[in-house]
Amino acid sequence: MLRVADYFADSDTGRARRANEDAFYAHAPVFAVADGMGGAQAGEVASRTVVDRLRRGLPDGGSPEERLALLAEEANDLIHRKAAEDEQRAGMGTTLTAAYVDEDAVSFGHVGDSRAYLFRDDKLQQLTNDHSLVGEMVRRGKLTAEQAEEHPQRSIITRALGPEPVVEVDHMTTFARDGDLFLLCSDGLTSMIGDDAIERILRAGPDLATAGHALIDAANAAGGRDNITVILFRVEDVGGRRQTDQATVVGEDAPRAEDVRAAAAAAAAQETTATATVAPPETTTEPASRAPKQPLPPGATAPPQRRRRRRLPFALVAIVAVVAVLLVAGYLASRAVFFVGTDSHGVVTIYQGLPYELPFGLKLYERYYSSGVVAAQVPNSRRRTLLDNALRSRSDATDLVRQLETGQLR
Ligand code: CA
Repeated sequence: MLRVADYFADSDTGRARRANEDAFYAHAPVFAVADGMGGAQAGEVASRTVVDRLRRGLPDGGSPEERLALLAEEANDLIHRKAAEDEQRAGMGTTLTAAYVDEDAVSFGHVGDSRAYLFRDDKLQQLTNDHSLVGEMVRRGKLTAEQAEEHPQRSIITRALGPEPVVEVDHMTTFARDGDLFLLCSDGLTSMIGDDAIERILRAGPDLATAGHALIDAANAAGGRDNITVILFRVEDVGGRRQTDQATVVGEDAPRAEDVRAAAAAAAAQETTATATVAPPETTTEPASRAPKQPLPPGATAPPQRRRRRRLPFALVAIVAVVAVLLVAGYLASRAVFFVGTDSHGVVTIYQGLPYELPFGLKLYERYYSSGVVAAQVPNSRRRTLLDNALRSRSDATDLVRQLETGQLR
């Protein structure tokens, strides 16, 4: 049976920012970090909204990780609505990395680029995936972790609570054992110091408060360019496990059955980190047939529901011929036109082709250019006209997105 033996939580404005848009929540068994974004104090509003929601307790029903995900969805809704009420807060959002210590495991809910780490046997292991442009590029093998640390767009996040009406929340559970130390932090820590430095500081200990302050000091010493939030909590096993687990233990140093189980479960949890509870509309289809966020014109997607009775082969031949003609015509037409939309991560993207899908998931478009801008950053007044999937020439589409990237589009 696990319980929280000790914890440390603190947030520092850093050396460059005037305000602290981070917020945290630390009341065992729940710990959370939220990193807000948006001008005119909107980031603070967003991150504090999550913390206020946490104070009211986790929603009922389901496993701890499902309840964390549900809470994230509720917070998303609250922030999204607050943003809609006030133009100054349009597009505001926040990350959330939340943990819940249960009987024999720790569950997480996660959106954005704040992180959760496990420090076990003097080794640091990142448990969450960053929902950031560079994070996605690292996972796709297009960037090394070292290149990502220096990348000019490393602060662009692809998922947050607030900017969109629906959010996809990662959730997972990792088995824990006596002495495991968990770290939750905002990117103000991890953008300033690397994992090896964090690991060294945690190894040095000697207690959580010393280590926690040392982490914040190290981030400030490295520049402190962002708000820094650090939560450390250590779990202890206070007994109550089933005897069958203990029966397999031979000697002090032999791996315990539950440790082996925990390692396997942790590995499994790592692999399934990106399990989503609520998927945005476009992710309900197969990944290969994802469409841009904007709705497709009616009649363009549904496979024909016919052939209840067996018809003459002629009917089948006719259908095949029509589909073939459509495909060829669509292909030829699609080479010449472009449109601007968002990809499944909310990144403004230029597509070549027509914004339609044919039956059986055949797309008439392909990605032409991924911008460095997420839709949430597009000024509200512009969002509809920019992302309307209207057909444009190549130069029109690229000019438009260039203007957006260079901040000329207001
Ligand atoms: Ca930050």
